Amino acid sequence: MIKDGLGLVKAAKHCWEGGLMPGTSGNVSMRIPRGLLITPSGTTWSELSPSDLVELEPDGKPMRAFSNVPSSEWQLHVDLYDRRPEVNAIVHTHSRFATVISCLRRPIPAVHYMIAAAGVSQVRCADYATYGTRELGQNALRALEGAKACLLANHGLVALGATLKEATKVAFEIENVAALYWHALQAGQPVLLDDVEIKRVAEKLKGYGQPA
Ligand code: 13P
Ligand code: ZN
Repeated sequence: MIKDGLGLVKAAKHCWEGGLMPGTSGNVSMRIPRGLLITPSGTTWSELSPSDLVELEPDGKPMRAFSNVPSSEWQLHVDLYDRRPEVNAIVHTHSRFATVISCLRRPIPAVHYMIAAAGVSQVRCADYATYGTRELGQNALRALEGAKACLLANHGLVALGATLKEATKVAFEIENVAALYWHALQAGQPVLLDDVEIKRVAEKLKGYGQPA
């Protein structure tokens, strides 16, 4: 738990420092052997430490008594782990530009090739539901079909990954593509990349950076 907890706190603070989680918004979780580890509700991100985290069973019950209650979005995280076996980490943010596009209830189109980080050529926007409800999770599940990210209408962004590193990267990359989209719209009608190109980029990105 300590090692997992340190990693989770580091990832959450990285997102907050990067401006993805204004105020106490957003939450982060990861799978652990018997369930999941999740950030507490109402977190002041600068003060978060591993002992503040909450361990949940796969159905969302706390594994024991904790000093904090879990994120109000625990059900969204539980349902996503249940339905997406390849996902081991989830980052939810209220990052500015993704949230702006979610308020327009539009998808983010392929204005930039890095949309391929989400494994799709269009990041869909889930139907609106009140925060912290089962319905929100169900709507997100639908919008996330075959994707590593979706918008939540009038709310924010959800990013998934096989690792915390990947989920965090997807959250940063998609926020950036949302910002580029918004800025491009101010100047005109952006030219979009097609599905074939996004598939090509997705393949190429597997070998991006330094060899493992
Ligand atoms: P929590 O602080 O309860 O995690 O809620 C923040 C949030 O983003 C709700 O959608
Ligand atoms: Zn939220």
